[in-house]
Amino acid sequence: MAIRNIVKYGDETLRRVCRPVEEITPRILTLLDDMAETMRAANGCGLAAPQVGILRRIAVVETEPGELIELINPKIIAFAGEQREQEGCLSIPEKWGITVRPAHVTVRATNRRGEEFEVTGSGLLARALCHEIDHLDGKLFVDKVIKYID
Ligand code: ZN
Repeated sequence: MAIRNIVKYGDETLRRVCRPVEEITPRILTLLDDMAETMRAANGCGLAAPQVGILRRIAVVETEPGELIELINPKIIAFAGEQREQEGCLSIPEKWGITVRPAHVTVRATNRRGEEFEVTGSGLLARALCHEIDHLDGKLFVDKVIKYID
């Protein structure tokens, strides 16, 4: 495993739409391992592939220590409610703002074994899932901030 360099705000990689993963190759598995390690080293609770310069639909989320969720080709298939909470991004250091997100989301994705699964989250997990999936479409939380926090 290796810690990868995190792409920072202003790099146009973060604004590109990522391509789906068609085949889970050893390179994809290494990328998943490296993304988890990179996220943890940066004390983040989520990381998307474009943040390490890879334009593929892959993200990792870990809002509870040890409960890593690896997402390949994730899609939000249901959402409900609304939350207005603080959000930040490893690509946009030192910046925090309040965003409006669904209170609950259900995501369908593929795992590293190529199996489809669903994950439902509320609160921070719902925000993290939305935030990371946004990254795969070139969207950043600063596009959605309703109020910055000093
Ligand atoms: Zn982010």
